[in-house]
Amino acid sequence: MILGPLAAGAAAAWAAYTWGAHLVAPGCVRRGPATRRRIALTFDDGPDPVWTSRTLDLLEAHGVRASFFLVGERAERALEMVRHIATAGHEIGSHGWSHRSLWLCGPGRTEDEIGRARAVLSETTGRSVRYFRPPWGMVNAAMFGALRRHGQRCVFWSIQPEGLRAMPPTRQVDRVLDRAHPGAIVDLHDAEGVRDASERLLVALPAMIGGLRRLGYEFATIGELLDYRSFT
Ligand SMILES: [Zn+2]
Repeated sequence: MILGPLAAGAAAAWAAYTWGAHLVAPGCVRRGPATRRRIALTFDDGPDPVWTSRTLDLLEAHGVRASFFLVGERAERALEMVRHIATAGHEIGSHGWSHRSLWLCGPGRTEDEIGRARAVLSETTGRSVRYFRPPWGMVNAAMFGALRRHGQRCVFWSIQPEGLRAMPPTRQVDRVLDRAHPGAIVDLHDAEGVRDASERLLVALPAMIGGLRRLGYEFATIGELLDYRSFT
């Protein structure tokens, strides 16, 4: 197909708005400092009425604090759960209002996705929400200004045991243990994106936590992992 000059211009502008933003990604983090054997477990896509509470129970049983990147409109339907996550000592981050890919959002919608999610999460927990994980890991050029206005930092990950393809629990554990490194950020899902992902995760988590501890790792929230002062 041959694009006309207008369509080609629009395609180039869209590529700069999306792909171009990925190339620059100012202020985005994929890992913490490598100065200490610390790892952050992060859970995306909740809160889920069933799986988030089971994940919380498991983390409590193992004495692990983690970070939950919540979807705003799901959080609004489960405010008690949001408070419960926060009072259990976990960090709450934002995963946008509707989990819409930022590749499909213009600047206005981007501001709305980030602002609405921040509002419901910070009002519910009484805490500032300092971290944002873009749905699907996709960013656009408008996101950086919106995050600055809302006092948030974009957080990707350095290890993802299950992406869009289902991965058996044992392989998820192996992947995390093989790739573990000081300052790692592990991307997990406590609500269904991929079918039965949360169920597989709950099977994998105890071995993942135990294995990381045997390798000498401590668990930290994203805030702790990125707070350089806590490394002195
Ligand atoms: Zn997600």
